[in-house]
Amino acid sequence: MGGGENSVEYEEERALLIESLKRHGISERVLSAMREVPRHLFVPENRRNQAYVDSPLPIGHSQTISAPHMVAIMCDLLDLKEGQKVLEIGAGSGYNAAVMSRLVGNTGMVYSIERIEALADFAQNNLMNAGYNNVKIILDDGSLGYPQEAPFDRICVTASAPDTPQPLVDQLRSGGLMVIPEGDSYQQLFAIKKKADGTVTKEEWGGVIFVPMIGKYGFDV
Ligand code: SAM
Repeated sequence: MGGGENSVEYEEERALLIESLKRHGISERVLSAMREVPRHLFVPENRRNQAYVDSPLPIGHSQTISAPHMVAIMCDLLDLKEGQKVLEIGAGSGYNAAVMSRLVGNTGMVYSIERIEALADFAQNNLMNAGYNNVKIILDDGSLGYPQEAPFDRICVTASAPDTPQPLVDQLRSGGLMVIPEGDSYQQLFAIKKKADGTVTKEEWGGVIFVPMIGKYGFDV
């Protein structure tokens, strides 16, 4: 499943991009998931010729599709496994959700929340065109999480929050992992682990640049 009829287009460009990601020390499992996902189907049509450059690209509404190396790093930190239930905050183009959907396989499921309706539609259409059906896009404020499907094995936050939203911590399964960028003008990426006793450890990965998370547990509009 996945890839759709356009998956062979840009194959060489995609292979070169994935090869270049090796210098970030990305695992072979994540690289092979990214080899499968046609990023050109997740960018606006007038950006397709830039889809395999390792850089964020505008997707409209002042938002971006994250750079491939950032997607790869977050997926590696999440240590995604077959059959897991994943929550993403910030669907954007749907690309990161598509990569995660390959890593959890057809027995897993990705729920991805987007607050901008036009982007929720964009992500939904892109995922459909690419042929992925184990991703559900939800239009809402993702800082509240998605209690209907909690707990989640993994949570991937792709917009920078002022602090870790408590609903996301509450909705993470014991033993689960979350990656989240936090900060305003100076942002850092954190890997959060929820231990069996419900307490969390929070490890700093390094400096990053994301658009802000807007919402009840995010920044104000
Ligand atoms: N993961 C996306 C992709 O693969 O294209 C890139 C995400 S973009 C860097 C961040 C996204 O988070 C934007 O689309 C933005 O509208 C969304 N966002 C910001 N605050 C949000 C919130 N509270 N709930 C849901 N989405 C939010």
